[in-house]
Amino acid sequence: AKDKGRNAFQFYTADMNQAVEQRLTIERELRQALKFGQFELFYQPFVDFESGKIIGAEALIRWNHPVHGLVSPVEFISAAEESGLIVPLGKWVLKTACYQAKGIQKALGRKFRISVNLSARQLSESDFVKTLDGCLNETGLDPKTLELEVTESTLMEDAESVILKLREVRRRGCSLAIDDFGTGYSSLSYLKRLPITSLKVDRSFVKDLPDDEEDREITSLIVAMAKSLHYEVIVEGVETPEQHAFLANCGCHIGQGYFYSRPLPVDHFMTLLFSDGSE
Ligand code: C2E
Ligand code: CA
Ligand code: CA
Ligand code: CA
Repeated sequence: AKDKGRNAFQFYTADMNQAVEQRLTIERELRQALKFGQFELFYQPFVDFESGKIIGAEALIRWNHPVHGLVSPVEFISAAEESGLIVPLGKWVLKTACYQAKGIQKALGRKFRISVNLSARQLSESDFVKTLDGCLNETGLDPKTLELEVTESTLMEDAESVILKLREVRRRGCSLAIDDFGTGYSSLSYLKRLPITSLKVDRSFVKDLPDDEEDREITSLIVAMAKSLHYEVIVEGVETPEQHAFLANCGCHIGQGYFYSRPLPVDHFMTLLFSDGSE
């Protein structure tokens, strides 16, 4: 039977043929979904530890599946990457996020930061920078208000050509964040060569805070090192007031997590933004 929601596609898996069949089904459905506009971006706030205000948001994709309902990206991003569909899908995400960011900024009457996730596959496209320019030009979004999130593994893959593209991104004024920081193997000395502006500390380090002594040490250390290298520090997965208090005390700049808000559809997000008193 077909489950609803998050685990929509986990009803296969029994054997290899089924796994292959499942992949093909997802690919076919993803293609259709793109064609019929079944994707949607949700927004999760970035909260400034000092002021307590919402200063930006991360765009997170959702699939409004006609049968399974709202499907999490965990269920389909890897299939989109393996099939190459992530390239057109990623373009859709980037353009939609720029367009909606512009809308949010108009409504607010000021700049507001939006962060977009990039796949390695997108960055390896030779025309990635052109795609980015196209989105910025078409929507008129100030590049300084756009941030791109890449993971450590993305950066390890094809280091030199990726670094060149990231420099181009920075030259336009966009910010660059390392996502899921601490889960890869890159050394800080390697990171130092990259034109990044922020580190997003992975939620696995936050999960057992403040009780777990090791995690307390690790997060404090990452935050201290990142700050001494002048990176902005964003902490993901803040779920409790105790975690919030510990991280604020560590000197983190920005928190993101269910403690502040779940990712929301853009209209709900804007309602939250206007009730935040951050105007
Ligand atoms: P991510 O970039 O690390 O995004 C953070 C994930 O953590 C999101 O899951 C978010 O809903 C979830 N999260 C936020 N706060 C909390 C919390 O307090 N507790 C817990 N347990 N989870 C929290 P989501 O939206 O399901 O996205 C999963 C992953 O899918 C993302 O991880 C990202 O790697 C990928 N993804 C999402 N949207 C896009 C996209 O537009 N393009 C690409 N390439 N990947 C995307
Ligand atoms: Ca992210
Ligand atoms: Ca992350
Ligand atoms: Ca993650």
